[in-house]
Amino acid sequence: MHGSAARCLVLATAMLLVGGCAGSGTGSVSGGQSAAAPSTPGPTAVATPARTSEPIAVVASTNVYGDIVSRIGGDRVAVTSIISDPGQDPHSYEANARTQLALSQARIVVENGGGYDDFVGRMLGTAGGAAGRQLLDAVEISGHKAAADGSLNEHVWYDLGAVSVLAARIADALAAADPAGAETFRSNADAFRATLAVLQSREADLRSGHEGAEVAITEPVPLYLLQACGLHNVTPPEFSKAIEEGTDVPARVLADTLALMDGGKVKALVYNTQTAGPQTEQLRKAAEAKGVHVVGVSETLPPGTGYLDWMSHTLDAVRDALS
Ligand SMILES: [Zn+2]
Repeated sequence: MHGSAARCLVLATAMLLVGGCAGSGTGSVSGGQSAAAPSTPGPTAVATPARTSEPIAVVASTNVYGDIVSRIGGDRVAVTSIISDPGQDPHSYEANARTQLALSQARIVVENGGGYDDFVGRMLGTAGGAAGRQLLDAVEISGHKAAADGSLNEHVWYDLGAVSVLAARIADALAAADPAGAETFRSNADAFRATLAVLQSREADLRSGHEGAEVAITEPVPLYLLQACGLHNVTPPEFSKAIEEGTDVPARVLADTLALMDGGKVKALVYNTQTAGPQTEQLRKAAEAKGVHVVGVSETLPPGTGYLDWMSHTLDAVRDALS
């Protein structure tokens, strides 16, 4: 085990503990910028012309997108994030009357798309709603398309380039809804994208230093980020597919996956804290026992952090695993 391993494990354990708590954060409403102090050079709001009307009502399907909208919209937006509970798997979220009400009042809706949060489209179909409502679909904006077999990794918030394009589109949508704030939205988006560009250059640095290093995953959640870092996922596809679909992993596949933790074969186990179960737990314990770094990833923002810090911390953990 190397010098940074202990810190990495502490961080990972903390994230797992957070992931295991049944919170009650669903449906949080926030206006303005995230309260968490950024440790990366974060966007700075520019002087804003006085707001003459109500803040723009924006609904995001998860707090990942909600945080990005808050960063760009500042105090000119009132953001409702439908899913923000770290103990809940968004894939199995069941929308309710409160979701329906928020969507019916939204002037801008940001969804993940790609089959991730289909309840948004279903509810918008019946919600009536604000005239001129704009809908942003993160998967569509990312340009990622399903493979020939129909499979698509829909976890596009781990693709920093895609999020950069999304940020610009969010600024455009906000400007259309509130032309007086257009300059503010554009400046905030530019600052957000500048920080993302710093994170992308960190990915490129990791790639040039560790291209081809092997890692294991529990689910495809972090794959866009791992690919940008040049890392090679060697997990048996049957393992991550079974975990993602919530089915049992066949014994042979589990044994093959556990064997990856032996003898320094993989540099890290990248672990979705939000859908942990007995078989992923077994894999995590095997990783810890063999001194393999565990890097936590998740579907929603960890509490008390913003998107940029979250991605920065994830890259810190990947760097520590590789060093
Ligand atoms: Zn997922």
